[in-house]
Amino acid sequence: MLELRPSRLPLAVLCAQSLHTDGIAVESDDADARLGSAAHEVIAARITAGQSVDGDVSAAATRWRVDHDDVGMLAGMAWQMWTTKLSTFFPDPLIEQPLDALDADFDMHLKGTADVLSYVADESEVRGNDFKTGRVDWDYEAQQRAYGLLGLIRWPEAKTVRMTITWVRSGRAETFVWTRSDLADWWHSFAKSLQDAPYRPGSHCSKCPRAFTCQARTLALRQSLEVFANVERMGPAVEQHIAELAATDPAQLAQLVAQARDLTKFLELTLESIKAQVVVAGGTLGALQVEEVTQRPIILARAWDALVAKLGQEKVIELATISKTKVSDEIKAAAGRGRKGKDVTEFMDALDAKGALDEKVIQKLVINRRLETNGSRSITATDESAATTGTAGAEQQAGV
Ligand code: SF4
Repeated sequence: MLELRPSRLPLAVLCAQSLHTDGIAVESDDADARLGSAAHEVIAARITAGQSVDGDVSAAATRWRVDHDDVGMLAGMAWQMWTTKLSTFFPDPLIEQPLDALDADFDMHLKGTADVLSYVADESEVRGNDFKTGRVDWDYEAQQRAYGLLGLIRWPEAKTVRMTITWVRSGRAETFVWTRSDLADWWHSFAKSLQDAPYRPGSHCSKCPRAFTCQARTLALRQSLEVFANVERMGPAVEQHIAELAATDPAQLAQLVAQARDLTKFLELTLESIKAQVVVAGGTLGALQVEEVTQRPIILARAWDALVAKLGQEKVIELATISKTKVSDEIKAAAGRGRKGKDVTEFMDALDAKGALDEKVIQKLVINRRLETNGSRSITATDESAATTGTAGAEQQAGV
C-alpha cells in the first residue's frame, strides 16, 4: 500500500515516483526545514495553551538546533497573526491533529497532520490553516487539497472545506474553498495519475527522499559523469576539445552545458549531505570537521549614520544594493492568487518611471530550445534536466 503524506504532494506533482521510497528514504538535514519545525512546535503549543509559555522558544531552538532569534521571530509573527486575525475563524481548533484515510481502490493510505482544523457547524464547513514559515518555492495546492479531503472525512456532515495557507514572513494568507465533490473528483484523477507514472528527474530531485537511491536520477547523473570522466577530452585538453566541438558540433556543446549543470547540483547536494552527517556526529567524523566561522554582516538600519559619516551618503547608497530578485520574491509572497506576476511588473514599472532601475549588461549562457539542432537527446529550455529514466518500460523525459 502506498502511503501518501500531504507534505510530499508538492514534490509528487513534479515526479510521482518520489512517493515510492521502497522503505529507503534519505532525509536531508535542511536547516530551513528544522527552523520551520521549531517554529511550528512553538506555535502549536501557544495555540493549544492559549498563551505563550516561558522558555518555549529556547526549548524548541535547542531541540531543532536552530537560531533562537529566528525561531522567536517566526513564532512571534505567527502568534500575533493568530491572536489578532485568525483565531476567530477557527472555533475550538484541533491542533496538529493526525488524520488518515484508506483508499482500497487505489491501494493508498493518505496520512497527515494539519496545523489547525475546525468545524463550523452553522456553515457545514471544515476550516484548516497551514502556517508556512519558508518562502514561496513550491506549488502547495495539492497539499492543501489533501488536508481538505482528510478534513471532510473527519467531519462527514461538512459540505465544504476552506483551507488557508498563512505565509508567516509576509503576513499574507492564501485561501482555497472546495466542495466535497470537487475534492472527490480531484482525488480520483490525482490518485490515478500516480499509477505507473514516469520518473521525471530535474532540479527538484535534490529535495527527494530517493535522491541517493533513484535509478532514473542515477542514470541521468551517470550519463553526465561519463562525459566528464573522459579525461583525454575533458582533462587538460578541455579547451581544445571545446574549440573543436564549437567548430564541428555545437549541438553537443549545448548537451554538455546541461550535463555540467545537472552534475554540479548533484555534487553540491553530496557535499551538503556529508556536512549534515558530520554535524549529526557532533562536528567531527574521521578527518572531517565542521568548523564554526563567525560572520558579522553590517546591520544597515543601525549602521546607517556611522556609514554616512565615514563614507558619505552617495557611497553608502552605492554599496547598499538591493537585490531585485529578493524584492520580487517578497512581492510575489505578499500578492494574492493570480496577481504575483502582475504585482511585480507594476512595481518594477513604477520604479522604472522614477528612474530607480539601473541597467547593466551581463553575459549569461542559456540553451535556446528553438535554436537547438537535432541532437540525440532533448534538453529543456532551462536545461534543468535532460535525463532518461532508469527502469524498464519507462519513458525518456525531455525534462520538467
Ligand atoms: S530522485 Fe528525482 S526522478 Fe527519482 S524519484 Fe525522486 S524526484 Fe523522481
